[in-house]
Amino acid sequence: MEHSCDSLLRQVQSLELTAAEVGTRIERIRAAVLSESVNINSPAFTSISPADLHLIYTLYDRYFFSDRIAVALGNTPLNFELSGRLTRSAGKTAYYRHPEKRFLIGVSTTLLFGCFTEADHRSIVCSGIVCRDRLDALLRVMEHELVHLIEFVLWDKSSCARSRFHSISLRAFAHTENVHSMITPVEKARQQLGIAPGVQVSFTMEGRVLNGVVNRVTKRATVLVEGSEGRLYSDGKKYMKYYVPLAMLSVVAKP
Ligand SMILES: [Zn+2]
Repeated sequence: MEHSCDSLLRQVQSLELTAAEVGTRIERIRAAVLSESVNINSPAFTSISPADLHLIYTLYDRYFFSDRIAVALGNTPLNFELSGRLTRSAGKTAYYRHPEKRFLIGVSTTLLFGCFTEADHRSIVCSGIVCRDRLDALLRVMEHELVHLIEFVLWDKSSCARSRFHSISLRAFAHTENVHSMITPVEKARQQLGIAPGVQVSFTMEGRVLNGVVNRVTKRATVLVEGSEGRLYSDGKKYMKYYVPLAMLSVVAKP
């Protein structure tokens, strides 16, 4: 009897699409997403739900893999989530083996909605392809995560740093790289607001204006403010630590 993964394996091994063929299929998927999704009603959409990710997965499985990912998955659960906590990766695919086998594909809302705004200071490239808009970026991220999913299903392991991944993503989706250059909160802070470690900033906290130095930047900045109640640091001074949303900071001086 044929194993449920065999037909997906054969298809993945024999895929050899030209960039033009990939483009035609993706245009169909874009059109289908725009007409079928409740949230994604424009390429510059401003809301998204896990059901939209599921829809995109289903369309890719249909147009690129003849529904063979679904066949290979069988009863193994595949869930989708949107995460505000992914601030460097644009997406992730997790393979849980215990207590039961399941897969989870997550997409970062922080990067998706943090890019393609008027504040963008450069163009966005995902998987080696320039993205025209937010929907383009979302599709590139999902393509990348689907290659992870396929590798997990067929080989139990996946790495986008390795040659097998590069080969599949190139032959299936014409990806020439396997990284994204979406604008992260750290880059945005540095480029658009001038906020980086060592920069002197001021901010208002409970009606008081405080001055300090940026120590670290994630989605918020860690600001050290000198004060006698603070903790002793290696420079012999005492500092209090504040976690401040980037938009609340004013730059006073750069180092
Ligand atoms: Zn990856």
